[in-house]
Amino acid sequence: MVIIPGTDMYLGLSGVERNRDPLPENVVFLNQIHSSRIVVSPAGGEDADGMVMSRGSGYPALRVADCLPVFALWDDYIGAAHAGWRGLSKGIMENLLQAVDQPLRWLILGPCICSRCYAVGDLVSRAVASGDPTGLLEHPEGRIDLRGSAVRRARKVSGEKFQLINIDECTLESAGLYSYRGNETAERNFLWLAEIERGEHIRQLNSEVECVSPERRKN
Ligand SMILES: [Zn+2]
Repeated sequence: MVIIPGTDMYLGLSGVERNRDPLPENVVFLNQIHSSRIVVSPAGGEDADGMVMSRGSGYPALRVADCLPVFALWDDYIGAAHAGWRGLSKGIMENLLQAVDQPLRWLILGPCICSRCYAVGDLVSRAVASGDPTGLLEHPEGRIDLRGSAVRRARKVSGEKFQLINIDECTLESAGLYSYRGNETAERNFLWLAEIERGEHIRQLNSEVECVSPERRKN
């Protein structure tokens, strides 16, 4: 559980057995299809990979195992997107952030496969580079940096003023998280953004989780 500073919200995470926050009521999951489709005020179960809803009307939740889970907070809205290489290439970050006509306050990136581990072929490299403000320049040779690309796309749409939480943990390298590339598991990590319940015990960031901006990362 990671508190979003200055708000009454937290990022919840449920991965392998020893790494599970309790899932709250009113979470909304989509039927994720690696698209760039965003649903506004989802009922749940729609074929889409991102959602935006009014604060207080529900909590967005994602299932991921290597793809990048993205959450966004505005003054009156809350949103999420499942951003793998396909979603990024098709513009899911841009679609998510353009769905709300308010300044973005927080962008929260959960665990995903890191750029050291994510070796890809030319087709994937070229797809991700198209629409990435720096093309392939900031991606390591033969590899893809999902978080870096997501942040650059977010800055292009939403400017520089939002706060960033980057949970710089790799699904493939962490024993506490499910990774499709690690073992082709059908299991998924669940992540969600929800309100802190009064009296709830808050676990501090565990030592495996680091909050740093991607600009400071060294690959
Ligand atoms: Zn890694």
